[in-house]
Amino acid sequence: MIYTCMNCGHEQQASPLTIQCQCGAALWVKPESRFKKSSLITGDFSMWRYSSAYSLQRDDVKVSFGEGMTPLASAEIAGISILAKMDSQMPSGSFKDRGAAMVVNYLNQLGIKNIAEDSSGNGGSAYAAYAAKANMNCYIFVPKGTSLGKTVQTRAYGAHCIEVEGDREDVALAAKQSVDTHNCSYVGHNWHPMFIEGVKSIAYETWEQCGYQAPDNFVAPAGNGSLLAGAYLGFSELLEAGEIDKMPRLFGIQTEGIQPFVQTFNHSPIKIQDIATVAEGIKIKRSSRLDEIVAFVRESNGMFISVDDQQTIQSLKNMAKQGFFIEPTSATAFAGIEKLVKLGEISAEHKTVGVVTGNGLKATSTIQTLLG
Ligand SMILES: *Cc1c(COP(=O)(O)O)cnc(C)c1O
Ligand SMILES: [Zn+2]
Repeated sequence: MIYTCMNCGHEQQASPLTIQCQCGAALWVKPESRFKKSSLITGDFSMWRYSSAYSLQRDDVKVSFGEGMTPLASAEIAGISILAKMDSQMPSGSFKDRGAAMVVNYLNQLGIKNIAEDSSGNGGSAYAAYAAKANMNCYIFVPKGTSLGKTVQTRAYGAHCIEVEGDREDVALAAKQSVDTHNCSYVGHNWHPMFIEGVKSIAYETWEQCGYQAPDNFVAPAGNGSLLAGAYLGFSELLEAGEIDKMPRLFGIQTEGIQPFVQTFNHSPIKIQDIATVAEGIKIKRSSRLDEIVAFVRESNGMFISVDDQQTIQSLKNMAKQGFFIEPTSATAFAGIEKLVKLGEISAEHKTVGVVTGNGLKATSTIQTLLG
């Protein structure tokens, strides 16, 4: 497997210790195989059904809960019918299991026993779950003062939470340096190339669930943008393989206070206005793959837009009234669809998929406050 850099073009052999290019940019897995519908593993009802699309052999997948193939359920937003891709039903309750499953299997096959991640949220829980299944030691670096409540799921899986003094960047640095301090491989979900390789599965599943076609629109919250990147790569591979005849338009939804993707997309300087938001999972000031993902979205003829907390909360309630209990962060996708309908970008004739990135059960106390 080769890692490639979209910033400077440098290529290198993949290794468990490599996660960043010499130029500082994030790395990507260089595509090796080309998926064909005929290579679909029909007896496998998980994300590994599309193994020929991944840079990991099916036989090397030993750590699995049978993840993936999450339901695509109909819902109504702003008077039109859409489809909700329910990644809230992944093993640890968020789409991050797609990436964690891929990274952990890749490292497990190489005999790695210790992994490190910096995330007090869904990324940490996802890695902790797969590490538990793989019998690996999992070290999750979190900012000092992180409430114990936030890391309950991670700690229940047996991961070690290590508090780090300083800001988000200091925490990431400590996790990266854990190769020396804890003999770890760093698996940070915003950096590891194999994480995105796993997220590609959401495109393949959506394609099959839409009757071997791409939807017209694919809408997701955008924090680091890994979900959008995985969707883009999956759909573009399907396009290259001739399995679809057009890309879906990709839409990334951010919050008004933190919208670096929106600003970069609109050729404006990045300005962080307000980091207080109910959409905890997308409070990312600058993506490790900012320019690449803006280019992906542009190429798909999609857009980045932002929604405010009021719209997000309204959308969360609207989805709940239809039987979907979703994380506030996920609700931005559906608030975004509503806005895109009003802007005339999405209409009733389209097949539109919104991703339920996380389960509402992860945020019951926040949602309790929102319900009043
Ligand atoms: C991580 C996360 C996101 C954002 O995904 P990115 O790949 O960082 O853009 C959105 N929703 C939930 C629930 C998440 O956990
Ligand atoms: Zn580079």
